Amino acid sequence: MSTVMLGTEVAKAMKERLTARVEELKEKGIHPCLAIVRVGARPDDLSYERGAKKRMELTGIACQVTELPEDISQEEFEAAFRKINDDPAVHGILLFRPLPRHLDEEPVKDIICPWKDVDCMSDANMAKVFAGDESGFAPCTPEAVMEMLDYYGVPLAGKRVTIVGRSMVVGKPLAMLMLKKNATVTVCHTKTADLPGTCREAEILVAAAGKARMITGDMVGENAVVADVGINVDPDGNLCGDVDYEAVEKKASFVSPVPKGVGSVTTSVLAAHVVRAAEYLNGLK
Ligand code: NDP
Repeated sequence: MSTVMLGTEVAKAMKERLTARVEELKEKGIHPCLAIVRVGARPDDLSYERGAKKRMELTGIACQVTELPEDISQEEFEAAFRKINDDPAVHGILLFRPLPRHLDEEPVKDIICPWKDVDCMSDANMAKVFAGDESGFAPCTPEAVMEMLDYYGVPLAGKRVTIVGRSMVVGKPLAMLMLKKNATVTVCHTKTADLPGTCREAEILVAAAGKARMITGDMVGENAVVADVGINVDPDGNLCGDVDYEAVEKKASFVSPVPKGVGSVTTSVLAAHVVRAAEYLNGLK
């Protein structure tokens, strides 16, 4: 039987630390504020927005939402974004992506102030993640994996880590965060020759492929730590991860479930980024 790594527990611990920092900022007259920018009303965006608003509220961070019409022109969109970016009361900006097809997000990556880029949109922040410069903001999901492993006391230095997935949102930045902690990292993808064998060798296995229950029990080494980033809907309409949880929990030493796993930590990381952004922007860091 393995220890279940509950994202909800990690989020609770992070909230304690963050509310204290928010209080300190407020005593100095600084009120941390996240601006959410949403174009249209995609159900996925609305669902994440609800979670983010709730998390900010619990932490004492202000949250303002700007909803832009789905048929907004590029020019109007950039003008609206620029206005939010220039607002000194805003410390962090979360823009829901992908944008509608007719909009180009590239210009926004240059417009956004890197210190307000709490979701790692800009090349400046991504470069910092790849350079191991911790003053940047990593994407929230890979950092949520790191928070979870840290909370459960999983050491990373010298460990063999396998990450399944190489996207710029999860797999690649996670590999960089793991390297920074001195893990030995292998990144797998659809062209990996021996995926089961490579996964089995891992002391820490992170699944971030977006394929329901693709990590089966035989792909996990005895006593491995398994973190599941995947969010999928199975044929019965149930939410599930990339890991076959029932099979894997019999072999792993630690395993994160879906739901209530990594996904429950991402909005806490977002809150932590807003607090850090408020500290930076006010010269406190
Ligand atoms: P992408 O589709 O962008 O990337 C998936 C990656 O997994 C690709 O690199 C792909 O390889 C690899 N992959 C897919 N299938 C296989 C396979 N059968 N064998 C080996 N590698 C495979 O997805 P994201 O990175 O955006 O997201 C990954 C998962 O994480 C999704 O389920 C998503 O919903 C979830 N997610 C969860 C979040 C959270 O907060 N918990 C936030 C963001 C995402 P290749 O490059 O060769 O195509």
